[in-house]
Amino acid sequence: MNVLVLGAGQLARMMALAGAPLNINISAYDVNTDNIIHPLTQAQLGSGLAQALAAADVVTAEFEHIPLPILEECQQSGKFLPGAAAIKAGGDRRLEKALLESAGAASAAYRIIRSEADFNQAIAELGLPLVFKSALAGYDGKGQWRLKTADDAKQIWQQIAAFLAADTKQAIVAEQFIRFEREVSLVGARSSSGEIKVYPLTENHHVNGVLSVSLARPVTQALQLHAEKMFTAVANHLNYVGVLAIEFFEVQGSLLVNEIAPRVHNSGHWTQQGADCCQFTNHLRAVCGLPLGSTALIRPTLMINILGEDVVPSSILTLPALGLHWYGKTKRAGRKMGHINLSANSNAELKALFAKLIDQLPASAFPELEQMLQRI
Ligand code: ATP
Ligand code: MG
Ligand code: MG
Repeated sequence: MNVLVLGAGQLARMMALAGAPLNINISAYDVNTDNIIHPLTQAQLGSGLAQALAAADVVTAEFEHIPLPILEECQQSGKFLPGAAAIKAGGDRRLEKALLESAGAASAAYRIIRSEADFNQAIAELGLPLVFKSALAGYDGKGQWRLKTADDAKQIWQQIAAFLAADTKQAIVAEQFIRFEREVSLVGARSSSGEIKVYPLTENHHVNGVLSVSLARPVTQALQLHAEKMFTAVANHLNYVGVLAIEFFEVQGSLLVNEIAPRVHNSGHWTQQGADCCQFTNHLRAVCGLPLGSTALIRPTLMINILGEDVVPSSILTLPALGLHWYGKTKRAGRKMGHINLSANSNAELKALFAKLIDQLPASAFPELEQMLQRI
């Protein structure tokens, strides 16, 4: 099978690694350069979307911020999974909120804002604090504003007004600020026959809006079932095929959806060694019409993102059940360069190994790991 991935980053690369043993060949279409590349060697295989589509049996995506004409062309090929509607819903917070409402999945109360009158009305109706998010193109917490007190309203509105004036396609989604206890995500797959398998809820720790650590371990059944119910509603509503991720806020034992990602997800990288069948394999199995693999947790596992660094001490490789994954990217401040997976046979053992790992990593490049350690 030849699978074309829209986007040529680390997720396409990890799909290529997972696809090889299944004889699934991955090529990646770089939507910015119009080039078709091999995700492992970066070798250029050709150019132009029409050529890429003609050579592919299946088309999928590794990110959601894809120009609409490209999505339409892929949809028309009849090979696109999970398809244009799902990718659009992940890339536009207005569509995402509407989807969550129709699927009956609870999320923070919101208003759509285009003018100062909308802005003031949102404050009056939703109260403070509020989070303002750009409707399009937001990732890693970019394109967001926080309003805590009425005193700052004028200043925040000026920033938002300038942002809206610079791009007429944009809008802002104002959302109630949720005082959550934890952030968790559910990654799962839906097959072409409608079968759904989800991994256990993963606990996520962000630093400055960017995922730093994900922790997978046995979770409370009630919470897992609640998340699964919302996942199933959203996935069925989209007639989704592939891996889908849903980010949640946990508030007093209940879950509110933060956002969805219609693709394999950073908070699912731990599945490479914490599950029999990782998210990349399951995504490929789903879009290629193959049966899904087990999503059960086989051992407690955590994942640490390597941000803006291209070296880590090689001594960490002496730790048992540690996997180091580089993405082959050139170093840039804050860039996702790779990740580390760490597994153990129990929570206590994972905590001890994590403490050893933290000792070996430069604290400046890996802030706040201690906070996550305390939570294990
Ligand atoms: P990603 O890289 O995960 O796609 P993003 O840019 O789409 O990020 P969000 O996930 O919407 O942004 O928000 C980033 C972070 O900001 C969240 O993980 C959470 O910590 C915080 N946040 C977002 N919305 C709210 C909210 N309504 N209340 C409180 N905190 C929030
Ligand atoms: Mg997002
Ligand atoms: Mg997010």
